[in-house]
Amino acid sequence: MVDAALRRALPGRCAFCLSPRSGERPWCPACFEALPWNLPACPRCAEPQPDRFSGRLCGACLRRPPAFARARAPLRYADEVAWLVRRFKFQASPRAGAVLLALLERGLADEALAWPQAIVPVPLHPRRSRTRGFDQAEWLARRLARRLEVPLRHGERRRDTPSQRGLDRAERRANLRHGFRVTGPLPRRVALLDDVMTTGATLDALGRACRAAGAEEVEAWAVARTPLAEA
Ligand SMILES: [Zn+2]
Ligand SMILES: [Zn+2]
Repeated sequence: MVDAALRRALPGRCAFCLSPRSGERPWCPACFEALPWNLPACPRCAEPQPDRFSGRLCGACLRRPPAFARARAPLRYADEVAWLVRRFKFQASPRAGAVLLALLERGLADEALAWPQAIVPVPLHPRRSRTRGFDQAEWLARRLARRLEVPLRHGERRRDTPSQRGLDRAERRANLRHGFRVTGPLPRRVALLDDVMTTGATLDALGRACRAAGAEEVEAWAVARTPLAEA
């Protein structure tokens, strides 16, 4: 499905530099190498870390561990990745979406991809869905669930939570703590999915709802994580 969309959209061209490419992937090796890979990052919440903290939990996770056991966000929201995400989000470009999904799959280890028994996308904010009409997390999750052959499950927002914009980390958490409801029972292992992970507060709240609905282990997956300065 994704591969067919890519072949139509980018016949034989790299998605980034448009140079001729060979093979299954929609990028050339040089562009792939040059992408902003999210390394090192906190193993719990995937927050980008300076090199000297490689492999250690970040301060926020030490103080207050999130509801998910691990976050996987292989790229940083910067450079070519930010360009792709914006095209996906604001132009609803299926070409950009297919490249982002391919990057997520390529960026995750095979054992990670084999882990979840269900995928739960972050629900779009109701106000935003009315104005924009495109749900990028749902778009990615539906295709990923099909490729991994696991069910897609949905959460819903409990109420019209105020916008997260302009709130600090603690305020976002308080705003979202009871923000979601997921109809259970869920299978044991659930992966949440968003396109871009910022502070992780939304995924934390959704993870809490999934655990209340019967999931024993929750991971938070995103294509990209915002860099240090914006987190
Ligand atoms: Zn290229
Ligand atoms: Zn962390």
